[in-house]
Amino acid sequence: MLRTTYDAAIIGAGPNGLAAAITLARAGLAVIVFEAHDTPGGGARTQELTLPGFLHDVCSAIYPLAAASPFFRSLPLEQFGLEWVQPTIPLAHPLEDRTAVLLERSVEATGISTGCDARAYRRLMSPFVTQWEVLVQSVMGPLRLRPLLRHALTTAPFGIAALSSAQMLANWQFRGERAKALLAGLCAHAQLPLNQPISAAAGLMLGVAGHACGWPFPRGGAQRLTDALVAYLRSLGGEIVTGVEIKTLAELPPARVVLGDITPRQLLRIAGQRLPAGYQHSLQRFRYGPGSFKVDFALDGPIPWKASACLQAGTVHVGGTLAEIAASEEQVAKGVHPERPYVLAAQQSLFDPSRAPEGKQTLWAYCHVPSGSTVDMTERIEAQIERFAPGFRDRILARHVWKPADLERYNANYIGGDINGGMQDIWQFFTRPTIRPVPYTTPVKNLYLCSSSTPPGGGVHGLCGYFAAQAVLRRYFRETAMALRM
Ligand SMILES: Cc1cc2nc3c(=O)[nH]c(=O)nc-3n(C[C@H](O)[C@H](O)[C@H](O)COP(=O)(O)OP(=O)(O)OC[C@H]3O[C@@H](n4cnc5c(N)ncnc54)[C@H](O)[C@@H]3O)c2cc1C
Repeated sequence: MLRTTYDAAIIGAGPNGLAAAITLARAGLAVIVFEAHDTPGGGARTQELTLPGFLHDVCSAIYPLAAASPFFRSLPLEQFGLEWVQPTIPLAHPLEDRTAVLLERSVEATGISTGCDARAYRRLMSPFVTQWEVLVQSVMGPLRLRPLLRHALTTAPFGIAALSSAQMLANWQFRGERAKALLAGLCAHAQLPLNQPISAAAGLMLGVAGHACGWPFPRGGAQRLTDALVAYLRSLGGEIVTGVEIKTLAELPPARVVLGDITPRQLLRIAGQRLPAGYQHSLQRFRYGPGSFKVDFALDGPIPWKASACLQAGTVHVGGTLAEIAASEEQVAKGVHPERPYVLAAQQSLFDPSRAPEGKQTLWAYCHVPSGSTVDMTERIEAQIERFAPGFRDRILARHVWKPADLERYNANYIGGDINGGMQDIWQFFTRPTIRPVPYTTPVKNLYLCSSSTPPGGGVHGLCGYFAAQAVLRRYFRETAMALRM
């Protein structure tokens, strides 16, 4: 039985909408979440997309940022069924010489895997891994000068490296192709040309996270993370209504505040007439990033990688050298479809047998494409994998293909297939969606944004939702609720 009035109504039950709801419910507020899809979860869902018994992560699959997130770590999600699986090695990056550079949990071992850059790799990563908690607290969130300055001995060197372009950082730190390729693959997650400032930031964070907390995934699929968040929210008294797309604010029940796990374009549609013209104008200037083209495979067995070490890794970056990956990302930014795309692949079933029938495997793979692309990249993705794993095609039992438009139909937040809620370049990294002292607020006092279009941006970590809810608690419920600490 639903209430008639709420403290907070939230539009969208993605990881950030659920994180905001949990933060507010933990503070004792009455919360309701509305989700357009038939099930909650946003970018964290699992379905039998290909054949019966094959469980595919529909969007996100690998969770270094969730494992790193101080917010998720503060929740009792294991009590609600979440179990993290750590693959033997977080990441492998195969090269033409039949070997692979391996991002291992150990910085030392990873350095050795790079060959001639063992010392340089250790020198770059070790200080950040040692100071990981400080980095997470200072960097994963809105721009906060106090923690940045308090921990300047750590944050300043990290900031200098992260603000660089991936190419500059690779050429500055490393001599050999192996370490450069590894860094390029990590940095290309940002979906920016690798010669752009700040294109090193995401890669550095992901690399350091690999050492500090691994690149795990939930046993049973991404859905299990959502299920645990939903069960915990319900245990706190929070309510979720699915199958309801909110088109105007008037459709929501009476609530003291509204938070949108949506991007600026949807906010303009839903609340446009209530937003001052200047704010509307700045939201209209918000830029979205390139799209993604995704293929899920049901396989007859493990992928026959030439570099057999790849079978120990949960994630495989398929794209070759720094030069090749840089060319691929630059082409995408220019609106061109790369002949040899950089492919992100995950083979969770090697470490989690519940994902596929006995003896069979799943493969999750996607590449970057220009925004709104309609080009079929299946053949090019398969050719890239085949290049490093001859015989891969013979193992394919079935495939499920998603173009950018399919992604956007599935989840209205994926504008043009952009999976990060907006471009994460130097202009929109901390100041997303617009420049405001508290980016989660809007000029309408009781209306907030809590999606990945706010800091710290894309990825499943719940921190956009957590910080937005903190802003709500501080500004709106100052007299009635205490802000929680992570
Ligand atoms: C192919 C792909 C691969 C990815 N891989 C990874 C990965 O491996 N690791 C990782 O950390 N991240 C990954 N991501 C990114 C990650 O999924 C997103 O950054 C994350 O889900 C953002 O969370 P969110 O809560 O901000 O938004 P979303 O997860 O997009 O959730 C928004 C929710 O709001 C709902 N909604 C939107 N509009 C309305 C409305 N008007 N009314 C009601 N409901 C509405 C949507 O249906 C959706 O459920 C991937 C994404 C994709 C698509």
